[in-house]
Amino acid sequence: MQILVLTIFPAMFDPLWSHGIVRRAIEQGIISAAAMDIRGFAPDRHHVTDDRPYGGGSGMVMKPEPLAAAIRAARQAAPGARTLLLSPQGRILTQAAAAELAALPGIILVCGRYEGVDDRLCTELIDDELSIGDYVLSGGEPAAWVVIDAVTRLIPGALGSEASAASDSFSDGRLEHAHFTRPPVFEGQGVPAVLLSGHHRNIDRWRRESALLRTLAHRPDLFQGRPPTEEEAQLLRSWQEKLAALLGSRPQ
Ligand code: SAM
Repeated sequence: MQILVLTIFPAMFDPLWSHGIVRRAIEQGIISAAAMDIRGFAPDRHHVTDDRPYGGGSGMVMKPEPLAAAIRAARQAAPGARTLLLSPQGRILTQAAAAELAALPGIILVCGRYEGVDDRLCTELIDDELSIGDYVLSGGEPAAWVVIDAVTRLIPGALGSEASAASDSFSDGRLEHAHFTRPPVFEGQGVPAVLLSGHHRNIDRWRRESALLRTLAHRPDLFQGRPPTEEEAQLLRSWQEKLAALLGSRPQ
């Protein structure tokens, strides 16, 4: 996959390219990634990329001409890539949206600054707008980081083990199970005995139960997207019985 970022702060991406999963994916040729400086497409001597808003008011707006030229250059460099504007008004990035992007040949991420970009850009040159959540950042760069990381880890081969992305939270409409590592006792707390048993079927079952419990406790809304399976329904019923017995044993 080809990833191009259009930004007025290309150096913000150097640490991303040189660490962790993204770095490894670049080294292994799974992705190619670069940040292009929008200022380089501003024809005037001072490389101005913003201007005052029509209609008055505070703040500045990103001028359309440098951005349009930058997007056209990026599209030439990455044919077939989808052009995405990072915007708090866009479609929310979910694991499913990240998986959709991971299947593309390329993405061009356009980072806004100031009050955002001139809206006329969006009619012709932007394929989609993407938000990383219902809050406002000062610029699209941190959002682009998030998109690049979430998408890269879903590209086959980017993670050491394929299974680890498949069992991640949200991949199957549930949160992931709890994790433990050595030492076996940490500050007086042990680990679930089944995880030390070496019994793989029981360990798998414990993990599915842990995932179900965490989803129920932290994100019950996820059950609307994927109703309980038969196994999950059975587990829920067994907890219901245990809870009923517990509550029934309380003195009135
Ligand atoms: N005035 C805009 C509004 O209220 O909708 C917000 C502009 S924001 C200060 C500047 C830039 O940060 C945006 O153009 C966008 O690129 C980026 N940005 C801010 N919040 C974001 C979010 N939640 N997701 C993605 N990008 C965001």
